[in-house]
Amino acid sequence: MRGMWMLHKRTLLRRLFISHLLLVIPVILFMGWYFSVSISDFYRDEIHQMLGNKARLFSMMIQPLLKKGEEEKIDRACETGGAQAQIRFTVILPDGRVVGDTERNPNEMDNHSSRPEIKTALNQHNEGASTRFSRTLETDMMYVAVPLQDDDGHMLAVVRASRSVSGINTTLRNIYNNITFVALLVLLFTAIVAYVVSTRINRPIDELKAGADRFAKGELSHRLKMSDVEEINLLGGAMNQMAAQLDERIHVITEQRNELQAVLASMAEAVIVVDNEGRITRMNKAAGKMLGINHKTVLNRSFPDAGVSQPLCDFLQEIFRTDWLLEREIVQGDEEPPLFLQAHGTIIRNEGAASQMPSRLGALIVMNDITKLKRLENIRRDFVSNVSHELKTPITAIKGFVETLKDGALQDPENAEGFLEIIGKHADRLNTIIEDLLNLSRIESDGDQREVERTDYSVRELTENAHMLCQAAATQKGIQIVVDCPRDLTTSLNARMIELALVNLMANAIKYTPERGLVALRAQEDEHTVSLSVSDTGLGIPKDSLPRLFERFYRVDKARSRDMGGTGLGLAIVKHIVMAHAGRVHVESKMGQGSVFTIVLPKG
Ligand code: ADP
Repeated sequence: MRGMWMLHKRTLLRRLFISHLLLVIPVILFMGWYFSVSISDFYRDEIHQMLGNKARLFSMMIQPLLKKGEEEKIDRACETGGAQAQIRFTVILPDGRVVGDTERNPNEMDNHSSRPEIKTALNQHNEGASTRFSRTLETDMMYVAVPLQDDDGHMLAVVRASRSVSGINTTLRNIYNNITFVALLVLLFTAIVAYVVSTRINRPIDELKAGADRFAKGELSHRLKMSDVEEINLLGGAMNQMAAQLDERIHVITEQRNELQAVLASMAEAVIVVDNEGRITRMNKAAGKMLGINHKTVLNRSFPDAGVSQPLCDFLQEIFRTDWLLEREIVQGDEEPPLFLQAHGTIIRNEGAASQMPSRLGALIVMNDITKLKRLENIRRDFVSNVSHELKTPITAIKGFVETLKDGALQDPENAEGFLEIIGKHADRLNTIIEDLLNLSRIESDGDQREVERTDYSVRELTENAHMLCQAAATQKGIQIVVDCPRDLTTSLNARMIELALVNLMANAIKYTPERGLVALRAQEDEHTVSLSVSDTGLGIPKDSLPRLFERFYRVDKARSRDMGGTGLGLAIVKHIVMAHAGRVHVESKMGQGSVFTIVLPKG
């Protein structure tokens, strides 16, 4: 069925089938024609010969009668001889007059001298023949006329034997019909054989085509079956090899692409690749995050279209204009604080590519988020200037009083003692600042290297120690300290550090609480954490200062803090101690009502 359908199309099967038929049909037609013509000629020749013989035989019979001029007997001989041989005999005298005829009365017959066969016999003294329609008998007739001469060579008459050829035609038609029938049978047989042969040739090609279709659909692991035709086998083998190579290459390419995607996705650096028209062809997640756009939906879009900021658009233009690696610092985003990006950009070259490929594939931009670095740099700069400033104040004071003493105050023992006391106080302050700075840097480096030594320690003991250390200052201001800690609460911590943090928080609470206030130190635990909170009934802290409270040297009221001997480093120390314990510290405060600082430490 499928094969028959295939014949409607310009398939190989159809071509093979048709060429088989084209080869066979002319042969059959030619053979049919050749046999028909040969048979027809053979029949006609036979009849011709037979008529000639009969005419000669008959002429010998009637020769005596002719010599005697017995015309009636001649006519009768024609009738009887013709009836016997089923042949029509006609005897014509040299003047064309008919003297005897098998079928008709000679007297009613016209002059026959103009008949072509008679003409030949009379004029050329030779046998004449003709086949034509006889008006006398109204049928196709073959005529053979032989001259009858006497011994001297005088023409006596022409004897003509004739016979209807309609019988021959019928016989020939039957033969033609038979030939046609056989030819049709041969044609049908040939068609069947041609179809079978064509299908056999076509089948392996069809199988190849089906296999190639599967390759085209991506089923490259499919293998073509080997055929018993050598050429098809070679072709199938080559196609199998090609599919295997293609499969391997696709496998390698897919692996490389996946690897590249995985590398790009896991990179902290932003990577953007654009083509020569400036359209984004690749962007990793980090880039999308830095630029605040969806890295998947911007593919194939230009920078402005994708919503990339103007400075980066300008940078891309510059990369396309120049030919070397460019570096820029780009400020990204309108929000505060903005992102600081360090961008590197270069043209991507098509190294080692065939000459017809473009030499430039596009441009590559790699960006690092240096906001943190920038902030650290600012912090470092601020820190240096803060430290210098903090140290400068006591040193200036000390220098001033030393000058005063040198200028003569030394001679005034009463004032001199006062001045020395002030110098001593400033020297103490210098000492405190330096001690705090050293503490801070030690805690920081321990925390960075995760070298904070921890042991299981009783929190109750810790709170009591802190209470004891701060009691004197509290008593001085008439401040009551309340400690509330479960008796058996223990956790893993560095006791020296946490004690320092608690003392710092309690010292602040006492410092910034008016006389006869209340400072409470509470400890409690839940499933995962231990919380230590220091609350006071003091001044409170303005809301806008809360986020910066734990920065080094940050003070809400510089003069007041300095008067109270504060360095501005106490809370920074607390923060770093807590961070070294992987904990967190937070503050809640209401102006005029008091503040609560809470340290939350993870258990274990
Ligand atoms: P200082 O040595 O100045 O106390 P800290 O780092 O300990 O420095 O504290 C930073 C600033 O936070 C202080 O200057 C003070 O203004 C504010 N502060 C800290 N603790 C309290 C508190 N309990 N009540 C009110 N303000 C406080």
